[in-house]
Amino acid sequence: MSKDFYCDEVLSGRTPVRVVLETDEVLAFHHTRPFWPVHLVVVPKAHVPSLIDLGDADEVLLHQVLAVVRRVADQVTREHGACRVSTNLGGYQDSKHLHFHLSAGPPFGQQPPVSVKGVVVRDGRVALLRNERDEWELPGGKLEPGESPEACVAREIEEELGLAVEASRILDSWVYEPLPSARVVIVTYGCTEGEIMPAALSDEHAEMEWFRLDEVGRLTMPEGYRRSVRAWFTLLEEGTR
Ligand SMILES: [Zn+2]
Repeated sequence: MSKDFYCDEVLSGRTPVRVVLETDEVLAFHHTRPFWPVHLVVVPKAHVPSLIDLGDADEVLLHQVLAVVRRVADQVTREHGACRVSTNLGGYQDSKHLHFHLSAGPPFGQQPPVSVKGVVVRDGRVALLRNERDEWELPGGKLEPGESPEACVAREIEEELGLAVEASRILDSWVYEPLPSARVVIVTYGCTEGEIMPAALSDEHAEMEWFRLDEVGRLTMPEGYRRSVRAWFTLLEEGTR
């Protein structure tokens, strides 16, 4: 590939592109080999080496480029709920012509992270945590390299609540998509407490509370968590029958 794909291929017209927005000075178009499901590029039509080396251009042109970046990024954010804006420099910059990448969605070829959550029931009540989005959720967190899901949920519950639990039984798994740009594989376990200790709230959450099963229905929480809570209550009830 040439050192300046934009002058040599795109702006010369040799490589056709799908244009999103064009002004007298600036061109925004779909990346020809996208790394993300939404991947747009914004370039000045005049040759500018990079963000830190404007060459013969002045800052007025840079502002014109940024004005287009803002407009296109605003549209991507409205359509997809999120947008990344980046520009590369030095060894990271493949094509030596200033260009901004605007993207949304997980990078192609990357697997979504796994989050392991636990249902802890004590005296007929389930431990739930309220997060900064004002949603209730199960304690638990991201699977670390080399860790088993059972070890992960025990570690996370120790960190978040100070409770000693064992993952007794897998309850459910599904792909959670809080935003179209963010997918997480959730795995839930029914947990059993070893030594009964008072639950302590870590600084990761705003509030912790023990809820009865009939209260869980009215809480703001992802449906998958509710399903897992119900499943563990049912299994515990069957076990004590
Ligand atoms: Zn150029």
